[in-house]
Amino acid sequence: MEHHVNETGIRIPGWADRVADSLGAGPHVIVSGISVSGNIHAGNLREVLVAEAVANALRQRGEEVRFIFHADTIDPLRKIAPGIPESYEEYMGHSLSHIPDPQGCHVSYAEHFLAPFEEALSAMEMDIEVLRSHELYERGVYTEVTREAIEHTNELRGILQDVTNRKMPEHWSPYLPRASSGKLTGMRVLEHLPEQTSVVFADEDGFEEAASYSKGEGKLGWRVELAARWKALGVTFEPFGKDHTSRGGSTDTADRMSREVFHYPVPGRYEYEWIGLKGRGDMSSSRGIVLLPNDLLEIMPPNAVRRIILGRDPARRFDIDLEGGFPHFMDEYRAESGEPYVPFTHLVTVAQTVGEDTDAAAQMLRRGGYEEASRDRDKLARDLYYARNWAEEWAPESMRLGLTTPLEAMANVAQLDEEQREYLRVVSGRLRAEMDGEAVQDVLYSTAIERGLKPKRAFSAVYRVLLGQTSGPKAGPFIAGLSLDQVRERFSL
Ligand SMILES: [Zn+2]
Repeated sequence: MEHHVNETGIRIPGWADRVADSLGAGPHVIVSGISVSGNIHAGNLREVLVAEAVANALRQRGEEVRFIFHADTIDPLRKIAPGIPESYEEYMGHSLSHIPDPQGCHVSYAEHFLAPFEEALSAMEMDIEVLRSHELYERGVYTEVTREAIEHTNELRGILQDVTNRKMPEHWSPYLPRASSGKLTGMRVLEHLPEQTSVVFADEDGFEEAASYSKGEGKLGWRVELAARWKALGVTFEPFGKDHTSRGGSTDTADRMSREVFHYPVPGRYEYEWIGLKGRGDMSSSRGIVLLPNDLLEIMPPNAVRRIILGRDPARRFDIDLEGGFPHFMDEYRAESGEPYVPFTHLVTVAQTVGEDTDAAAQMLRRGGYEEASRDRDKLARDLYYARNWAEEWAPESMRLGLTTPLEAMANVAQLDEEQREYLRVVSGRLRAEMDGEAVQDVLYSTAIERGLKPKRAFSAVYRVLLGQTSGPKAGPFIAGLSLDQVRERFSL
């Protein structure tokens, strides 16, 4: 993978370097914005990681960078996400920040979906500011751009009609005031009172109401808000997924609005592709194909999450393989770090054999020939945690281990032929407690050759008796990790 590592050990991928070069001198404001209408999944994380990589590339050039996660908390609820009660129909068109949490554990609907994502960002030690759009409106950050937008209603409508090829309604307004019912959608703005930073509007029943746009009593429509936000926050770079950058899409309208109405230069851009989950399709909250960032942090360290989500090039579509292909990914990731590491499949074997006993794991690793990796107990405990979680959640059946009970072993031995049984008895007599994985492997192999037993049949006898299956992890290190008594008990039946 093309990349370089800076002084602080942060990896800067080649594509991010090229984007940083094209952005030039700062100060820079990097934004990534995500809806909080449902689960914020690992696919959404790709957007934040693209932005982070560019922010890091700029910081590394000595640029001043403000890195923002803009959570669209004031947006109206537009559809009921999977798992949300039908009764939430009554909140349709209300701000997500003003709707109760469907599970009652957070202050709002928005916060229920934002909080776990924010926790994941913090677990990844990301240097990012999380801003909630309803608070930005309430604090007056968007007051000036809202005034400008309302004053240029006709130009904005013209751009929307031009670009999207759709006729906008006569009473269209860039501003959505909140009615006393809590609804933002379907209001008709009648009058702008700029000195009072407010609008007078007809609510859904035709009654006149007023809303102050300096106090968060409404919001800009989302296409206008995108351009307005660039100006209000001084944005210089924002990544977009392909749904936004298609022809007539939200970046097409925002680009023109930014130049022609807000007189603000269009920020630098990077178009990223979707990621999918191998065998399940593109991630999508509305279709229920959801993998949460926290699910990933259960099975790998934060920098491996960055690596797997970004892939080699985020401009390309990519399917994450958390099943059979995952051990290879982890080994590649560890190898790139240049530190000594234990192959992931071996860690999985160790984790399933010793449970949470780090001392036993260290002993098993030493005997398997991974002396160095057994020394740092904190790191080992973390690695075992990842391996154990992966084995439980994602590992193919063939990698899930459970040492047979002596009773099961007896039943399994009965399925072997006399040659295989005799082989196990001889091996059992030759094993010594001090042998490491290599030495045990040697005994297993040479004993088979010596007795004229094909190695395949010999090893299959070993796996059948110990694991109740016909194949398994490399037998030498696995057996070396068990106690000699456990092995003899099963081999000498
Ligand atoms: Zn909650």
